[in-house]
Amino acid sequence: MTDSSLTPDIRTRLAQIADVTLDERTTFAELTTLHLGGRPRLTVRCGSTSAVAEVVMLLDAAGIPLLVVGGGSNLVVAEGDLDLVAVILENDTLELDPASGLVRAGAGAVWDDVVAATVEAGLGGIECLSGIPGSTGATPVQNVGAYGAEIADVLTRVLLLERATGEVSWVPAADLELAYRYSNLKFTGRGVVLAIELQLNPDGLSAPLRFGELARRLGATDSGGRRPVTQVRDTVLDLRRGKGMVLAEGDHDTWSAGSFFTNPVVDVAVADSVQATVRAARGDEDADRMPRFPAGEGTVKLSAAWLIDRAGFAKGHPGEDAPARLSTRHTLALTNRGSASTSDLVALAREVRDGVRGRFGVTLVPEPVWIGVSID
Ligand SMILES: Cc1cc2nc3c(=O)[nH]c(=O)nc-3n(C[C@H](O)[C@H](O)[C@H](O)COP(=O)(O)OP(=O)(O)OC[C@H]3O[C@@H](n4cnc5c(N)ncnc54)[C@H](O)[C@@H]3O)c2cc1C
Repeated sequence: MTDSSLTPDIRTRLAQIADVTLDERTTFAELTTLHLGGRPRLTVRCGSTSAVAEVVMLLDAAGIPLLVVGGGSNLVVAEGDLDLVAVILENDTLELDPASGLVRAGAGAVWDDVVAATVEAGLGGIECLSGIPGSTGATPVQNVGAYGAEIADVLTRVLLLERATGEVSWVPAADLELAYRYSNLKFTGRGVVLAIELQLNPDGLSAPLRFGELARRLGATDSGGRRPVTQVRDTVLDLRRGKGMVLAEGDHDTWSAGSFFTNPVVDVAVADSVQATVRAARGDEDADRMPRFPAGEGTVKLSAAWLIDRAGFAKGHPGEDAPARLSTRHTLALTNRGSASTSDLVALAREVRDGVRGRFGVTLVPEPVWIGVSID
């Protein structure tokens, strides 16, 4: 593949930016938690906030396609040579004020390190987001969430490079249209998060517990109860490990992009029809247990994992010899068992999506960002 725009001159100018290193060897198989994907034209590692901004502005001005990469934990990337530059964020500063609860972290900081440090300092608000892989800068991108909390609960503003103008400024969280697994940064290339600011609670207690399984484990029967942050973090990590949702190099159940499909939000009539199908096939007891949560005017949020299971895809599907399988601990995670290609993973994703659609008439939508490949 040739790309005349990535000239020696551009490479030289990139290499001259402070805190930047370049290489042409790294592959997305090394950069992603699925361990899948081919080689970018160039990998540019940025060790400071100013380096990220300068690199992105230089590449944008030259019209060179780029992909900002944090921990690669929400990416499905095609095999082969990719006509883009991977810009890796490694600006990992962290400032926190235990008295006020104000936290500022560089986009390249490992998210779980930030959570651990805030918990250690007795700050409450992000303990339920313990164990989510990836970078701090990516957390607003899809408004990460888990165990009843999401980053939108505590995010005050982000230091954003607006790619259209090259302007760098602190942008209020409200401008990002944060919603369930969404912001106007996701899929849009609008900007690069250079740092985030959080307002946490300095009283040493967690945010109100809203997730049944977690609250029960912590003996919090009162809805909205609070517990010491360390206790909540430990319990969340324990629950996540049980589902293969904490990265572990030797554990192929964690070679995933986390939850592969978002929980579908459907009209009440569609939810009723799904429930009726389950009732006819599996009886009242199962149908009455179907997870369904009010999601605003006339709509209901269903559980993608539950639908996948009830459509006949068990944990570990399609079986031991398959290179890409559902996790053996969670039907919502699609995993690489070590020898899968991106095509294997995409074929499995299609099979699951089509199976759920055929059974229930609900089309599951993938959560990760797809690069050079598509489910359709
Ligand atoms: C085992 C496992 C468990 C997971 N559990 C959860 C969970 O509980 N909840 C949840 O919400 N997610 C979960 N995820 C998904 C993923 O970890 C999150 O979406 C995470 O925030 C992605 O961060 P990253 O740095 O790896 O992003 P990447 O995968 O590197 O990038 C994802 C997208 O964000 C963009 N991006 C990254 N950084 C920036 C930036 N600084 N500015 C602008 N755009 C940026 C990229 O260009 C890309 O489009 C899980 C994933 C795995 C593998």
